[in-house]
Amino acid sequence: MKKIQMVDLKGQYERIKETVNASIQEVLDTNTYINGPLVHTFQKNLEEYLGAKHVIPCANGTDALQIAMMGFDLKPGDEVITADFTFAATVEVIALLQLTPVLVDVEEDTFNISIAAIEKAITPKTKAIVPVHLFGQAANMDAIMALAKKHNLYVIEDNAQAIGANYKSADGSKKKAGIIGHVASTSFFPSKNLGCYGDGGAIFTNDDALAHTLRGIVNHGMYVRYHHDVVGVNSRLDSIQAGVLNAKLPHLDNYNEARQLAASKYSSALANHKNIITPFIAGEKDSHVFHQYTLRIVGADRDGLMQHLLDKGIPCAIYYPIPLHAQKAYLDPRYKEEDFPITNRLVKEVISLPMHTELDDEQIKFITDSILEFLN
Ligand SMILES: *Cc1c(COP(=O)(O)O)cnc(C)c1O
Repeated sequence: MKKIQMVDLKGQYERIKETVNASIQEVLDTNTYINGPLVHTFQKNLEEYLGAKHVIPCANGTDALQIAMMGFDLKPGDEVITADFTFAATVEVIALLQLTPVLVDVEEDTFNISIAAIEKAITPKTKAIVPVHLFGQAANMDAIMALAKKHNLYVIEDNAQAIGANYKSADGSKKKAGIIGHVASTSFFPSKNLGCYGDGGAIFTNDDALAHTLRGIVNHGMYVRYHHDVVGVNSRLDSIQAGVLNAKLPHLDNYNEARQLAASKYSSALANHKNIITPFIAGEKDSHVFHQYTLRIVGADRDGLMQHLLDKGIPCAIYYPIPLHAQKAYLDPRYKEEDFPITNRLVKEVISLPMHTELDDEQIKFITDSILEFLN
């Protein structure tokens, strides 16, 4: 059996090596390292893939989220609601912009931001909601957009984990996750579903005026060279990374299908076990692109299982072990433990299994057999 890895980037690279290498060589041959033609090509390719009017490439997914938020007229003290159960980048940029993060609990089945909890947290100071499409599955965007409309709020989708996922609205229309809210951010960190070979990110929106604002912000607040109209940042996707992404984007749907297939094999092998809750897919099959495959272990020793798997050479991880409301940097006297019953439980129950495009049946069987052997 091939050695099992949490993410197998090398195996994936071997299959696209020639195109990737040719893209990188093109950058070297043309000395177009920054804002080169490959960046522009990637922008166009991604706009077409997503059905987004505007893609603004930038340096990483955290910058993308921060810049997206800078595009709105938000003032220090304005409240921004986001999920308690996510990676820290989401809450970090809210705090960095001197906005007030308001963390709320998540739904038990999808792990995505709870609609009831958002509604409860809305105050006259609330200006925006940041849903995170966690582990590859879009949050309940119909309900979020309805709340946003009712209370006049911006919706900034953190789509770092769900690029390529589809979201079907109640009216039957289907869109890519990330083009439903006012703006979205994504990350091309190597292990993401569409990863480059370094850092990278992008913002997307269908709003022409917002796109114009954001293009200036990523470039030092310049709309005309050496005229700085707003305080901006320096955040660029470099040409080598754009080359890698151009080579990988045509494979993204196949990559996501490979993840979905591995997920369904895991789920059938682990179905109907009293101690295991397999991932719940709220929409159609293509609505979850399994950035992570995350089980809940109930009434059994999750940490013992993790050690058992590690001892057998099976990598696994806890995403995320500590709720954000309990992190030192984000403590707030307004939070009460009883406001976060689901997150507080999930951090003790979740375990993420190896998930990537190169998993084979032998590996999946070894992993699921090892889990069942421990839980018996
Ligand atoms: C990865 C990730 C980010 C940050 O992306 P970087 O490119 O690492 O800055 C933000 N939000 C979520 C939910 C992520 O998973």
